[in-house]
Amino acid sequence: MPIQNADLHCHSIVSDGTLTPEELAARAAANGVELWALTDHDEIGGQERAAAAAHALGMKYLTGVEISVTFADETVHVIGLGFDDRDAQLRAGLAATRGGRGERARDIAAGLAAVGIPGAYEGAVQYARNQELISRTHFARFLVETGVCRDTGEVFRRFLVEGKPGFVPHRWATLKDAVRWITEAGGVAVIAHPARYRLSANEEYALFTDFKAHGGRGVEVVTGSHTPSEYVTYAETAREFGLAASRGSDFHSPGESHTDLGQLPFLHGALTPVWDLVADRVR
Ligand code: AMP
Ligand code: MN
Ligand code: MN
Ligand code: MN
Repeated sequence: MPIQNADLHCHSIVSDGTLTPEELAARAAANGVELWALTDHDEIGGQERAAAAAHALGMKYLTGVEISVTFADETVHVIGLGFDDRDAQLRAGLAATRGGRGERARDIAAGLAAVGIPGAYEGAVQYARNQELISRTHFARFLVETGVCRDTGEVFRRFLVEGKPGFVPHRWATLKDAVRWITEAGGVAVIAHPARYRLSANEEYALFTDFKAHGGRGVEVVTGSHTPSEYVTYAETAREFGLAASRGSDFHSPGESHTDLGQLPFLHGALTPVWDLVADRVR
């Protein structure tokens, strides 16, 4: 039987999730996931634990990561799947991408202090289990916990997006480098949740054209960040650009994520599943 319940996008405490790799694996297995990947932001420190936990529960595993990229002055996320997690170039690239996060977090906190919210750096750090990976999500949790906002979505809208006091412009990896690090480590590169980016039609066309030219092979079609009508839109993009399709919940936390692991609709049968491209890398 071909694999249908693949969930190839989620986050652990190694980035901005709230569960351990083992807790995520248990949740995925309980929801019937057959093939799983942990895709922490800019970080692969959870891969060995995730693979071991998956195997102990009878799931197949692909290595995973979600790399932060700057394209057309917008942050775009590129998922890597099925790479060799010991690859030196990939590890160095991810370390460099993580590198600016500490200073960025100080700047975010300064922006929040300027509008009367003190102590946000120390507050966010308390939620970050990986001190190299302080994310806007950790600031959001702090502002919810201290009663400034009701939920993390409100924090982003009021404070953490462009034009708001806690927004800090940041240069992440280039699209070309991210795709190269993944593919030269033997993996496949996938554009994450394309509907989430504020790109014009021309910029989106350029994103997929450049991505293909750099060696990118896949696009997330069914994700917790897309509506059902966006599944249709990006299935068409996959067809137009000759890309394979991926499926993943983007699960972060039981309290915050509305889409649980393994619960989205399966990919439409006419799409090529991205896991078919890395079948030899499935462990
Ligand atoms: P960062 O990498 O620090 O810029 O943080 C990006 C993360 O913030 C994403 O991966 C999401 O987990 C989270 N995020 C972004 N936008 C929102 C939003 N509108 N509501 C809740 N979480 C968000
Ligand atoms: Mn995240
Ligand atoms: Mn993302
Ligand atoms: Mn994600």
